[in-house]
Amino acid sequence: MGIVRGGVARMCLVILLWMVIGALVVAAPPLQGDQVVHVVQVGETLYTIAQHYGVTVDALVAVNGLSDPDLISVGQRLTISGSASAAPVQTGTHAVQPGDTLALIARRYGTSVEVLAQLNHLTNPNLIYVGQTLLVPVAGETAGPVTGQVHVVQLGDTMARIAARYGVSVWAVAQANGIANPSVIYVGQRLLVPTPERDSSLPYPILDLVVLPVVAVQGQTVQVSVETDGEVSLSGAFDGRPLFFVGDRGTYRTLFGIPAMSTPGAYPLDLKATKGEQEVSTHNLIQVVEGDFGVQYLTFSSEKTELLDPQLTTTEAQRVWDLTAQATLPGMWQGRFWFPVTGDPPVSSPFGIRRSYGGGPANSYHAGLDLDVPEGTPVYCPAPGRVVLAEELQVRGNAVIVDHGRGVMSGYWHLSQIGVSVGQQVEAGELLGWVGNTGLSTGAHLHWEMRVMGIRVDPLQWVREEIR
Ligand SMILES: [Zn+2]
Repeated sequence: MGIVRGGVARMCLVILLWMVIGALVVAAPPLQGDQVVHVVQVGETLYTIAQHYGVTVDALVAVNGLSDPDLISVGQRLTISGSASAAPVQTGTHAVQPGDTLALIARRYGTSVEVLAQLNHLTNPNLIYVGQTLLVPVAGETAGPVTGQVHVVQLGDTMARIAARYGVSVWAVAQANGIANPSVIYVGQRLLVPTPERDSSLPYPILDLVVLPVVAVQGQTVQVSVETDGEVSLSGAFDGRPLFFVGDRGTYRTLFGIPAMSTPGAYPLDLKATKGEQEVSTHNLIQVVEGDFGVQYLTFSSEKTELLDPQLTTTEAQRVWDLTAQATLPGMWQGRFWFPVTGDPPVSSPFGIRRSYGGGPANSYHAGLDLDVPEGTPVYCPAPGRVVLAEELQVRGNAVIVDHGRGVMSGYWHLSQIGVSVGQQVEAGELLGWVGNTGLSTGAHLHWEMRVMGIRVDPLQWVREEIR
């Protein structure tokens, strides 16, 4: 598909390139024969100069008649002998980042821990600190350092999943980390995920398009970021449904949800950018795969079953859809969402599970996350937003819907009591109401639903990941 690459990674690339290019050591012009003169710079030692030109300290001492190799001064001219035939080892600098280890830095620059330790006179390779400037060897112009971002392996991660998430191949990740068997990774392991090749097929002024995750699962929220050359007017659609973009000055973001019952396959993501008279569009395909949902068989008492009257459920569903399938506010959240109840509430029915009512076919699914908490448990808002619905509905019972901006809404059904009113601004952690058993419900529980432009998505993703 060629439209996918790590968003953060790109930023890392820019910073890295800047660091490397900005710090390239420029060798003095070669003299006749095989001699080069090097003018000593601030911070240099005979050792680093020797490393730089691929010669030994002894050779430098001998050729330059130095009595004490520790005594060289800035501006001093040193003759480097025997180096003109081979290009000097170019070095750049790397500022140590949070999470960096010498091994990761070595992989990034295609070198070894030993070389880095030597180059930087490190007695203990485990002792590097954030902000420390390290000398790193830089290969010729064609092979730059491996750029990318660090991924810390989480429980449940596989190499395939990690690779898919960043839009790179398993092979590329394995190679960047010197892993021979990609099925052997461990929790807490730090992997360098290389930056995927930049797609040059994007039409100007679209410079970059990043889709996360690359292969989307049914019910997942997908993040898109678009980089353009300056301010543009951006619009687009996923599978024909319009997207809501935020951002300016060349950096834009949008979100869309993958319907939980969508047939696995490729779905179109279309973008249109307008800058002045110029209008360009891109057509991409997003791969959707099946989620791993089970089947749940439910029965209701006759009184509750009456509520399943299609006319009634359809009217109510349409109302909720109309209210949620729109974006009127900028994004009001930052970081992950909280759970709407405190503690570590057990999940009684996960998002996406296929459902059969009264022994019928499993042709519907559970569109939210059911938390098994007793009646009267306070329900707190998981992120800032504005209340757009707070009333009793027939199927959903006492219901609250909060608009978090950018078409992201959260719903709380079957409440015993509602604690907010329409139009109210709510902060993360603010009380929305209390857990109950109203509407079409078989016992006290909280049904928590998340929607992106009306499409119901897995709320757990919003708790586990920072969605931007
Ligand atoms: Zn539910």
